[in-house]
Amino acid sequence: MSTAPETSAAYLIRGAAIGGGARTDLLVRDGIIAETGTGLSAAGAAVIDADGLVALPGLVDLHTHLREPGREDAETVETGSRAAALGGYTAVHAMANSSPVADTAGVVEQVFTLGQKAGWTDVRPVGAVTVGLAGERLAELGAMADSRARVRVFSDDGMCVHDPILMRRALEYVKAFDGVIAQHAQEPRLTDGAQMNEGAVSAVLGMTGWPAVAEESIIARDVLLAQHVDSRLHVCHVSTAGSVEIIRWAKQRGIKVTAEVTPHHLWLTDELVRSYDPVYKVNPPLRTDEDVKALRAGLADGTIDIVGTDHAPHPSEAKECEWAQAAMGMTGLETALSVVQHTMVESGLIGWDDFARVMSTAPARIGQLAGHGQPLETGSAANITLVDPAARWQVDPQRMATKGRNSPFAGRELPGRVVATFYRGHPTVLDGALNTPLTSEGA
Ligand SMILES: [Zn+2]
Repeated sequence: MSTAPETSAAYLIRGAAIGGGARTDLLVRDGIIAETGTGLSAAGAAVIDADGLVALPGLVDLHTHLREPGREDAETVETGSRAAALGGYTAVHAMANSSPVADTAGVVEQVFTLGQKAGWTDVRPVGAVTVGLAGERLAELGAMADSRARVRVFSDDGMCVHDPILMRRALEYVKAFDGVIAQHAQEPRLTDGAQMNEGAVSAVLGMTGWPAVAEESIIARDVLLAQHVDSRLHVCHVSTAGSVEIIRWAKQRGIKVTAEVTPHHLWLTDELVRSYDPVYKVNPPLRTDEDVKALRAGLADGTIDIVGTDHAPHPSEAKECEWAQAAMGMTGLETALSVVQHTMVESGLIGWDDFARVMSTAPARIGQLAGHGQPLETGSAANITLVDPAARWQVDPQRMATKGRNSPFAGRELPGRVVATFYRGHPTVLDGALNTPLTSEGA
Protein backbone atom coordinates (compact mmCIF):
# COMPACT_ATOMS: atom_id res chain seq x y z
CA MET A 1 0.00 0.00 0.00
CA SER A 2 1.34 3.41 -0.87
CA THR A 3 -0.59 5.16 1.90
CA ALA A 4 0.53 3.18 4.90
CA PRO A 5 -1.04 4.29 8.17
CA GLU A 6 1.15 6.23 10.57
CA THR A 7 3.13 3.61 12.36
CA SER A 8 4.20 5.74 15.28
CA ALA A 9 1.41 8.25 15.86
CA ALA A 10 2.08 10.34 18.94
CA TYR A 11 -0.47 11.92 21.26
CA LEU A 12 0.13 14.71 23.74
CA ILE A 13 -2.46 14.57 26.52
CA ARG A 14 -2.39 18.02 28.06
CA GLY A 15 -3.30 18.80 31.67
CA ALA A 16 -4.98 15.60 32.85
CA ALA A 17 -5.39 15.10 36.60
CA ILE A 18 -3.52 11.84 37.23
CA GLY A 19 -5.61 9.70 39.53
CA GLY A 20 -7.52 12.90 40.32
CA GLY A 21 -4.32 14.58 41.58
CA ALA A 22 -1.82 16.96 40.01
CA ARG A 23 -2.37 18.13 36.44
CA THR A 24 0.24 16.64 34.16
CA ASP A 25 0.99 16.28 30.48
CA LEU A 26 1.50 12.79 29.08
CA LEU A 27 3.27 12.13 25.80
CA VAL A 28 2.17 8.84 24.28
CA ARG A 29 4.44 7.40 21.61
CA ASP A 30 5.42 3.90 20.40
CA GLY A 31 3.00 2.23 22.79
CA ILE A 32 4.45 3.73 25.95
CA ILE A 33 4.25 6.89 28.02
CA ALA A 34 7.35 8.50 26.55
CA GLU A 35 7.38 11.60 28.74
CA THR A 36 5.47 13.20 31.61
CA GLY A 37 5.64 16.71 33.00
CA THR A 38 4.16 20.16 32.53
CA GLY A 39 4.37 22.36 29.46
CA LEU A 40 5.45 19.47 27.23
CA SER A 41 5.52 19.91 23.49
CA ALA A 42 6.11 17.38 20.77
CA ALA A 43 6.32 18.15 17.07
CA GLY A 44 3.77 16.19 15.08
CA ALA A 45 1.90 14.87 18.09
CA ALA A 46 -1.88 15.12 18.11
CA VAL A 47 -2.85 17.25 21.12
CA ILE A 48 -5.69 16.20 23.41
CA ASP A 49 -6.90 18.94 25.72
CA ALA A 50 -7.52 17.09 28.99
CA ASP A 51 -8.41 20.12 31.08
CA GLY A 52 -10.89 18.89 33.69
CA LEU A 53 -10.32 15.23 32.87
CA VAL A 54 -9.05 12.51 35.19
CA ALA A 55 -6.38 10.15 33.82
CA LEU A 56 -6.44 6.57 35.07
CA PRO A 57 -4.46 3.48 34.17
CA GLY A 58 -6.60 1.59 31.63
CA LEU A 59 -9.34 -0.32 33.44
CA VAL A 60 -9.01 -4.10 33.84
CA ASP A 61 -11.99 -6.43 34.25
CA LEU A 62 -11.37 -9.75 35.94
CA HIS A 63 -14.88 -11.02 35.23
CA THR A 64 -16.40 -10.67 31.74
CA HIS A 65 -18.65 -13.04 29.80
CA LEU A 66 -17.88 -12.66 26.09
CA ARG A 67 -20.00 -15.72 25.10
CA GLU A 68 -17.73 -16.76 22.21
CA PRO A 69 -17.34 -19.54 21.14
CA GLY A 70 -20.86 -20.88 20.98
CA ARG A 71 -23.26 -18.09 21.91
CA GLU A 72 -22.43 -15.47 19.32
CA ASP A 73 -26.10 -14.46 19.35
CA ALA A 74 -25.51 -13.07 22.88
CA GLU A 75 -22.06 -11.51 22.39
CA THR A 76 -18.81 -11.99 20.48
CA VAL A 77 -15.24 -11.20 21.42
CA GLU A 78 -15.49 -8.35 18.89
CA THR A 79 -18.68 -6.75 20.27
CA GLY A 80 -17.78 -7.37 23.90
CA SER A 81 -14.31 -5.90 23.59
CA ARG A 82 -15.74 -2.87 21.75
CA ALA A 83 -18.03 -2.38 24.72
CA ALA A 84 -15.04 -2.76 27.01
CA ALA A 85 -13.06 -0.07 25.20
CA LEU A 86 -16.03 2.32 25.37
CA GLY A 87 -16.24 1.60 29.09
CA GLY A 88 -12.59 2.58 29.55
CA TYR A 89 -11.14 -0.94 29.70
CA THR A 90 -7.84 -1.98 28.15
CA ALA A 91 -7.99 -5.59 29.33
CA VAL A 92 -10.76 -8.06 30.11
CA HIS A 93 -10.73 -11.61 31.40
CA ALA A 94 -13.15 -13.77 29.41
CA MET A 95 -14.97 -16.30 31.60
CA ALA A 96 -14.79 -19.97 30.66
CA ASN A 97 -18.50 -20.82 30.41
CA SER A 98 -18.59 -20.65 26.61
CA SER A 99 -19.62 -23.53 24.35
CA PRO A 100 -17.38 -25.44 24.14
CA VAL A 101 -16.17 -24.62 27.61
CA ALA A 102 -12.70 -23.06 27.81
CA ASP A 103 -11.20 -26.10 29.50
CA THR A 104 -8.36 -26.92 27.07
CA ALA A 105 -5.33 -25.12 25.64
CA GLY A 106 -7.09 -25.15 22.25
CA VAL A 107 -10.15 -23.20 23.35
CA VAL A 108 -8.27 -20.62 25.45
CA GLU A 109 -5.90 -20.01 22.52
CA GLN A 110 -8.90 -19.55 20.24
CA VAL A 111 -10.39 -16.88 22.54
CA PHE A 112 -7.00 -15.21 22.96
CA THR A 113 -6.51 -15.05 19.18
CA LEU A 114 -10.01 -13.64 18.63
CA GLY A 115 -9.13 -10.87 21.09
CA GLN A 116 -5.91 -10.05 19.29
CA LYS A 117 -7.70 -9.94 15.94
CA ALA A 118 -10.39 -7.64 17.30
CA GLY A 119 -7.77 -5.24 18.65
CA TRP A 120 -9.93 -3.29 21.12
CA THR A 121 -8.47 -4.60 24.40
CA ASP A 122 -6.32 -7.39 25.69
CA VAL A 123 -8.57 -10.44 26.07
CA ARG A 124 -7.20 -12.89 28.62
CA PRO A 125 -9.11 -16.15 28.79
CA VAL A 126 -10.07 -17.61 32.15
CA GLY A 127 -9.64 -21.38 32.16
CA ALA A 128 -12.23 -23.74 33.57
CA VAL A 129 -11.33 -25.50 36.82
CA THR A 130 -13.18 -28.71 35.91
CA VAL A 131 -13.85 -30.40 32.58
CA GLY A 132 -17.03 -28.99 31.05
CA LEU A 133 -17.71 -27.08 34.33
CA ALA A 134 -19.17 -30.39 35.47
CA GLY A 135 -17.39 -30.38 38.82
CA GLU A 136 -16.15 -33.96 38.42
CA ARG A 137 -12.50 -33.87 37.34
CA LEU A 138 -9.87 -31.19 36.96
CA ALA A 139 -9.36 -29.60 33.54
CA GLU A 140 -5.91 -29.29 31.94
CA LEU A 141 -4.85 -26.38 34.12
CA GLY A 142 -1.14 -26.74 33.36
CA ALA A 143 -1.64 -26.96 29.61
CA MET A 144 -3.77 -23.79 29.67
CA ALA A 145 -1.14 -22.01 31.78
CA ASP A 146 1.62 -23.04 29.36
CA SER A 147 -0.42 -22.16 26.26
CA ARG A 148 -0.03 -18.99 24.20
CA ALA A 149 -2.93 -17.54 26.22
CA ARG A 150 -0.87 -17.86 29.43
CA VAL A 151 -3.92 -18.49 31.61
CA ARG A 152 -3.46 -17.53 35.25
CA VAL A 153 -7.08 -17.26 36.45
CA PHE A 154 -9.19 -20.41 36.63
CA SER A 155 -12.90 -20.48 37.36
CA ASP A 156 -16.02 -22.56 36.84
CA ASP A 157 -17.98 -19.29 37.15
CA GLY A 158 -21.67 -19.82 36.69
CA MET A 159 -21.11 -23.02 38.65
CA CYS A 160 -19.53 -23.49 42.07
CA VAL A 161 -16.63 -25.90 42.57
CA HIS A 162 -18.54 -27.46 45.44
CA ASP A 163 -16.56 -30.70 45.88
CA PRO A 164 -13.97 -29.87 48.57
CA ILE A 165 -11.45 -32.41 47.29
CA LEU A 166 -11.53 -30.92 43.78
CA MET A 167 -11.26 -27.40 45.22
CA ARG A 168 -8.26 -28.43 47.31
CA ARG A 169 -6.52 -30.07 44.34
CA ALA A 170 -7.15 -27.07 42.10
CA LEU A 171 -5.73 -24.69 44.72
CA GLU A 172 -2.65 -26.90 45.06
CA TYR A 173 -2.17 -27.28 41.30
CA VAL A 174 -2.11 -23.56 40.41
CA LYS A 175 0.66 -22.80 42.88
CA ALA A 176 3.17 -24.11 40.32
CA PHE A 177 2.57 -21.06 38.09
CA ASP A 178 1.22 -18.56 40.64
CA GLY A 179 -2.31 -18.99 39.35
CA VAL A 180 -5.49 -18.26 41.24
CA ILE A 181 -8.80 -20.08 41.62
CA ALA A 182 -11.74 -17.69 41.23
CA GLN A 183 -14.69 -19.23 42.98
CA HIS A 184 -18.37 -18.66 42.24
CA ALA A 185 -19.46 -19.24 45.85
CA GLN A 186 -22.88 -20.85 45.74
CA GLU A 187 -23.75 -23.96 47.71
CA PRO A 188 -25.89 -25.78 45.12
CA ARG A 189 -28.21 -27.66 47.47
CA LEU A 190 -29.05 -24.52 49.43
CA THR A 191 -30.00 -22.69 46.23
CA ASP A 192 -31.97 -25.39 44.44
CA GLY A 193 -34.70 -23.58 42.49
CA ALA A 194 -33.81 -20.21 44.02
CA GLN A 195 -35.11 -17.16 42.18
CA MET A 196 -34.03 -14.19 44.31
CA ASN A 197 -32.52 -13.22 47.67
CA GLU A 198 -34.11 -15.00 50.62
CA GLY A 199 -35.62 -12.38 52.89
CA ALA A 200 -38.60 -10.16 53.52
CA VAL A 201 -39.23 -9.45 49.83
CA SER A 202 -39.05 -13.09 48.72
CA ALA A 203 -41.53 -13.95 51.50
CA VAL A 204 -43.98 -11.36 50.22
CA LEU A 205 -43.55 -12.37 46.56
CA GLY A 206 -43.68 -16.08 47.34
CA MET A 207 -40.49 -16.79 45.42
CA THR A 208 -37.95 -19.45 46.41
CA GLY A 209 -35.22 -17.63 48.29
CA TRP A 210 -31.45 -17.74 47.91
CA PRO A 211 -30.04 -17.51 51.41
CA ALA A 212 -26.90 -15.54 52.24
CA VAL A 213 -25.52 -18.64 53.95
CA ALA A 214 -25.33 -20.43 50.58
CA GLU A 215 -22.59 -17.96 49.60
CA GLU A 216 -21.01 -17.51 53.01
CA SER A 217 -20.59 -21.22 53.80
CA ILE A 218 -18.59 -21.80 50.60
CA ILE A 219 -16.40 -18.73 51.20
CA ALA A 220 -15.71 -19.88 54.78
CA ARG A 221 -14.73 -23.34 53.58
CA ASP A 222 -12.59 -22.02 50.74
CA VAL A 223 -10.56 -19.54 52.79
CA LEU A 224 -9.74 -22.39 55.18
CA LEU A 225 -8.73 -24.60 52.24
CA ALA A 226 -6.58 -21.79 50.82
CA GLN A 227 -4.91 -21.45 54.21
CA HIS A 228 -4.40 -25.19 54.52
CA VAL A 229 -2.58 -25.51 51.17
CA ASP A 230 -1.14 -21.95 51.20
CA SER A 231 -2.57 -21.02 47.81
CA ARG A 232 -4.39 -18.08 46.23
CA LEU A 233 -8.19 -17.86 46.29
CA HIS A 234 -10.25 -15.17 44.59
CA VAL A 235 -13.91 -14.80 45.54
CA CYS A 236 -16.10 -13.70 42.63
CA HIS A 237 -19.00 -11.24 43.07
CA VAL A 238 -19.30 -11.06 46.87
CA SER A 239 -22.89 -10.08 47.64
CA THR A 240 -23.58 -10.30 51.38
CA ALA A 241 -22.49 -8.49 54.53
CA GLY A 242 -21.57 -11.83 56.11
CA SER A 243 -19.23 -12.65 53.21
CA VAL A 244 -17.41 -9.36 53.78
CA GLU A 245 -16.95 -10.29 57.46
CA ILE A 246 -15.52 -13.73 56.61
CA ILE A 247 -13.07 -12.28 54.07
CA ARG A 248 -12.01 -9.60 56.56
CA TRP A 249 -11.33 -12.32 59.14
CA ALA A 250 -9.35 -14.37 56.60
CA LYS A 251 -7.21 -11.42 55.54
CA GLN A 252 -6.42 -10.60 59.16
CA ARG A 253 -5.06 -14.14 59.50
CA GLY A 254 -2.83 -13.69 56.44
CA ILE A 255 -4.80 -16.03 54.19
CA LYS A 256 -4.14 -15.33 50.48
CA VAL A 257 -7.66 -14.35 49.53
CA THR A 258 -8.82 -11.56 47.23
CA ALA A 259 -12.40 -10.57 46.55
CA GLU A 260 -14.55 -8.78 44.03
CA VAL A 261 -17.86 -6.93 44.02
CA THR A 262 -19.95 -6.03 40.98
CA PRO A 263 -21.20 -2.52 40.21
CA HIS A 264 -24.83 -3.66 40.51
CA HIS A 265 -24.33 -5.15 43.97
CA LEU A 266 -22.90 -1.78 45.07
CA TRP A 267 -26.18 -0.08 44.30
CA LEU A 268 -29.28 -2.17 43.62
CA THR A 269 -31.37 -4.16 46.13
CA ASP A 270 -33.97 -6.92 46.07
CA GLU A 271 -36.71 -4.28 46.44
CA LEU A 272 -36.45 -3.96 42.63
CA VAL A 273 -37.66 -7.54 42.21
CA ARG A 274 -41.14 -6.34 43.25
CA SER A 275 -41.41 -5.07 39.64
CA TYR A 276 -41.04 -8.67 38.38
CA ASP A 277 -38.79 -7.21 35.67
CA PRO A 278 -36.27 -9.96 34.78
CA VAL A 279 -33.61 -7.33 34.06
CA TYR A 280 -33.04 -7.50 37.85
CA LYS A 281 -32.58 -11.28 37.88
CA VAL A 282 -28.92 -12.05 38.51
CA ASN A 283 -26.61 -14.58 40.15
CA PRO A 284 -25.80 -13.94 42.95
CA PRO A 285 -29.09 -12.14 43.52
CA LEU A 286 -29.55 -8.50 44.46
CA ARG A 287 -29.53 -8.37 48.26
CA THR A 288 -30.62 -5.85 50.90
CA ASP A 289 -29.68 -2.28 51.71
CA GLU A 290 -27.60 -3.54 54.67
CA ASP A 291 -25.60 -5.74 52.30
CA VAL A 292 -25.05 -2.83 49.89
CA LYS A 293 -23.70 -0.70 52.75
CA ALA A 294 -21.35 -3.50 53.88
CA LEU A 295 -20.09 -4.08 50.33
CA ARG A 296 -19.34 -0.38 49.86
CA ALA A 297 -17.54 -0.23 53.22
CA GLY A 298 -15.60 -3.41 52.39
CA LEU A 299 -14.47 -2.01 49.03
CA ALA A 300 -13.46 1.28 50.66
CA ASP A 301 -11.38 -0.35 53.42
CA GLY A 302 -9.69 -2.88 51.11
CA THR A 303 -11.43 -6.02 52.39
CA ILE A 304 -12.84 -6.29 48.88
CA ASP A 305 -9.98 -5.74 46.43
CA ILE A 306 -11.66 -5.02 43.13
CA VAL A 307 -14.77 -4.26 41.14
CA GLY A 308 -15.50 -6.91 38.50
CA THR A 309 -18.35 -6.28 36.09
CA ASP A 310 -19.73 -9.83 35.69
CA HIS A 311 -20.87 -8.44 32.32
CA ALA A 312 -23.43 -11.06 31.27
CA PRO A 313 -25.18 -10.21 27.99
CA HIS A 314 -28.23 -12.23 27.00
CA PRO A 315 -30.37 -12.20 23.85
CA SER A 316 -33.64 -10.36 24.47
CA GLU A 317 -35.77 -13.51 24.32
CA ALA A 318 -33.87 -14.83 27.36
CA LYS A 319 -34.79 -11.74 29.38
CA GLU A 320 -38.11 -10.53 28.00
CA CYS A 321 -40.15 -13.35 29.47
CA GLU A 322 -41.57 -14.42 32.81
CA TRP A 323 -39.27 -14.07 35.82
CA ALA A 324 -39.05 -17.80 36.50
CA GLN A 325 -37.93 -18.60 32.94
CA ALA A 326 -35.56 -15.64 32.50
CA ALA A 327 -31.78 -16.03 32.34
CA MET A 328 -29.67 -14.59 35.14
CA GLY A 329 -27.26 -11.76 34.44
CA MET A 330 -26.78 -8.10 33.57
CA THR A 331 -24.54 -6.16 31.20
CA GLY A 332 -21.91 -3.98 32.83
CA LEU A 333 -18.90 -3.00 30.73
CA GLU A 334 -20.29 0.34 29.51
CA THR A 335 -21.75 1.44 32.86
CA ALA A 336 -19.24 0.17 35.45
CA LEU A 337 -17.11 3.29 35.60
CA SER A 338 -20.14 5.53 36.07
CA VAL A 339 -21.78 3.29 38.65
CA VAL A 340 -18.60 3.11 40.71
CA GLN A 341 -18.18 6.88 40.45
CA HIS A 342 -21.75 7.32 41.67
CA THR A 343 -21.70 4.75 44.48
CA MET A 344 -18.14 5.12 45.75
CA VAL A 345 -16.57 8.43 44.64
CA GLU A 346 -19.55 10.78 44.80
CA SER A 347 -20.58 9.23 48.11
CA GLY A 348 -17.16 10.23 49.47
CA LEU A 349 -16.06 6.68 50.26
CA ILE A 350 -13.03 6.64 47.93
CA GLY A 351 -11.03 9.06 45.77
CA TRP A 352 -9.87 8.62 42.19
CA ASP A 353 -6.56 7.13 43.37
CA ASP A 354 -8.49 4.33 45.09
CA PHE A 355 -10.74 4.10 42.04
CA ALA A 356 -7.62 3.34 39.95
CA ARG A 357 -6.62 0.68 42.48
CA VAL A 358 -9.94 -1.20 42.51
CA MET A 359 -10.66 -0.85 38.77
CA SER A 360 -7.16 -1.36 37.34
CA THR A 361 -4.13 -1.91 39.55
CA ALA A 362 -5.51 -4.68 41.76
CA PRO A 363 -7.32 -6.66 39.05
CA ALA A 364 -4.17 -6.56 36.89
CA ARG A 365 -2.14 -7.87 39.82
CA ILE A 366 -4.61 -10.65 40.68
CA GLY A 367 -4.71 -11.72 37.01
CA GLN A 368 -0.89 -11.52 36.68
CA LEU A 369 -1.41 -9.22 33.73
CA ALA A 370 1.79 -7.49 32.59
CA GLY A 371 1.56 -3.99 31.12
CA HIS A 372 -1.71 -3.09 32.83
CA GLY A 373 -2.53 -1.37 36.10
CA GLN A 374 0.75 0.50 36.11
CA PRO A 375 1.25 4.03 37.44
CA LEU A 376 1.05 6.65 34.68
CA GLU A 377 4.78 7.32 34.62
CA THR A 378 7.45 7.63 31.95
CA GLY A 379 8.18 4.19 30.53
CA SER A 380 4.86 2.60 31.47
CA ALA A 381 2.81 0.89 28.78
CA ALA A 382 0.37 3.49 27.44
CA ASN A 383 -2.86 1.91 28.70
CA ILE A 384 -4.74 5.03 29.75
CA THR A 385 -8.35 6.01 30.35
CA LEU A 386 -9.42 9.66 30.29
CA VAL A 387 -12.63 10.38 32.20
CA ASP A 388 -14.79 13.49 32.37
CA PRO A 389 -16.14 13.21 35.92
CA ALA A 390 -18.45 16.21 35.48
CA ALA A 391 -20.34 14.76 32.50
CA ARG A 392 -23.74 13.19 33.01
CA TRP A 393 -25.53 10.85 30.62
CA GLN A 394 -28.65 8.79 30.41
CA VAL A 395 -28.27 5.02 29.98
CA ASP A 396 -29.83 3.78 26.73
CA PRO A 397 -29.09 0.07 26.15
CA GLN A 398 -30.12 0.41 22.50
CA ARG A 399 -27.10 2.63 21.92
CA MET A 400 -24.53 0.37 23.52
CA ALA A 401 -21.83 -1.61 21.71
CA THR A 402 -22.62 -4.81 23.58
CA LYS A 403 -25.22 -7.05 21.97
CA GLY A 404 -26.91 -7.36 25.36
CA ARG A 405 -29.79 -4.98 26.08
CA ASN A 406 -30.16 -6.23 29.66
CA SER A 407 -28.83 -3.24 31.61
CA PRO A 408 -30.44 -2.71 35.02
CA PHE A 409 -29.45 0.95 34.77
CA ALA A 410 -31.51 1.67 31.64
CA GLY A 411 -33.07 5.12 31.87
CA ARG A 412 -30.98 6.23 34.84
CA GLU A 413 -28.81 9.32 34.68
CA LEU A 414 -25.21 8.50 35.60
CA PRO A 415 -22.12 10.64 36.18
CA GLY A 416 -18.80 10.26 34.39
CA ARG A 417 -17.98 9.58 30.78
CA VAL A 418 -15.01 7.93 29.13
CA VAL A 419 -13.55 10.54 26.79
CA ALA A 420 -10.62 8.48 25.50
CA THR A 421 -9.14 5.02 25.95
CA PHE A 422 -5.55 4.36 24.93
CA TYR A 423 -4.75 0.70 24.42
CA ARG A 424 -1.00 0.12 24.02
CA GLY A 425 -0.63 3.69 22.85
CA HIS A 426 -3.45 3.52 20.33
CA PRO A 427 -6.72 5.43 20.92
CA THR A 428 -9.52 2.88 20.70
CA VAL A 429 -11.90 5.59 21.93
CA LEU A 430 -11.61 9.30 21.12
CA ASP A 431 -14.06 12.13 21.93
CA GLY A 432 -16.25 9.58 23.70
CA ALA A 433 -16.78 7.47 20.57
CA LEU A 434 -15.18 4.35 19.17
CA ASN A 435 -12.14 5.16 17.06
CA THR A 436 -10.29 2.27 15.42
CA PRO A 437 -8.88 -0.96 16.79
CA LEU A 438 -5.21 -1.58 17.25
CA THR A 439 -4.19 -3.62 14.24
CA SER A 440 -1.01 -5.57 13.76
CA GLU A 441 -0.24 -3.35 10.74
CA GLY A 442 -0.62 -0.15 12.73
CA ALA A 443 1.02 -1.32 15.93
ZN1 LIG B 1 -20.57 -16.10 38.85
